[in-house]
Amino acid sequence: MTKTETRPSSITATVDFEADGVHHGFLQLPYSRDDSAWGSVMVPLAVVKNGEGPTALLTGGNHGDEYEGPVALFDLAQKLTAEEVSGRVIIIPAMNYPAFCAGTRTSPIDKGNMNRSFPGRPDGTVTEKLADYFQRTLLPLADVVLDIHSGGKTLDFLPFAAAHTLEDKDQEAKCFAGVAAFAAPWSLRMVEIDAAGMYDTAAEEMGKVFVTTELGGGGSARAETIEIAKRGVRNLLCHSGILTGEIEQAPTRWLDMPSGECFVFAEDPGLVEVCRDLGDLVKAGEVIARVHPIGKTGAAPVEYRAKIDGIIAGRHFPGLVKSGDFLAVVGVAE
Ligand SMILES: [Zn+2]
Repeated sequence: MTKTETRPSSITATVDFEADGVHHGFLQLPYSRDDSAWGSVMVPLAVVKNGEGPTALLTGGNHGDEYEGPVALFDLAQKLTAEEVSGRVIIIPAMNYPAFCAGTRTSPIDKGNMNRSFPGRPDGTVTEKLADYFQRTLLPLADVVLDIHSGGKTLDFLPFAAAHTLEDKDQEAKCFAGVAAFAAPWSLRMVEIDAAGMYDTAAEEMGKVFVTTELGGGGSARAETIEIAKRGVRNLLCHSGILTGEIEQAPTRWLDMPSGECFVFAEDPGLVEVCRDLGDLVKAGEVIARVHPIGKTGAAPVEYRAKIDGIIAGRHFPGLVKSGDFLAVVGVAE
């Protein structure tokens, strides 16, 4: 073990994770800076505990420009009573709180992308210190971990809950049972472009039941997707035995991402002409977007085609793209 791994975290929780009842507080992270020499970053959290039972760790705002998670979780934290709970619910509505306050994907303090910062460092940047606290303190407390994402300012998705293919098939089955319980309109077997440093990977490697989502995007939230988030959170807590009551069933369609062929990336910068919308069926070879050069008129657009048959499950959101930008992802109905 290196010195870094044994160093204690500088973060303290202002609430007792073992105390019964509803407790609102903070993760307090000392952050010395020009406008506050002995200041701290204060990440809001709520702990609702009632006796013995499983622990659910619920997060939103892993990326600061995604809003269904923070809306559903600030709402839950305000409403949930200890009497309703068997076990414990730890609610952190905005995991990368500096990013959330700035309305940006990454932290304005250190440019840290929370979901590329795991396992974190106790002696690292603000984002790395938060990741380390999740890695060594919060994740070990949890049985079930839900991390609510949306597309943020640059992506838009069909609203889906998702889990990953895992080596441990028993764990994988529990994760997909959690996805089914969440009951989003779409349920996905997800492939990551790069899983290194992700919170997902950290939780899964610890053997946790891990469910993630992409509930929309564009840097805002809709009434429909907020309802999906609220219902999904309660359903997952019922499914885990933490809340009593019936799971509120809703129709879901399962999608698979069988390979990297799902993804379409832009190789040319320019103006996107979207040719297929979210939820549209596409065939391999079909043009899903054209990218028009914007330096002058008279140049032909570059066509981008689906590589497999399927359904458009996600897309680039802004009107302009750069080379290397994600354009679309095609899911395959199971
Ligand atoms: Zn995200």
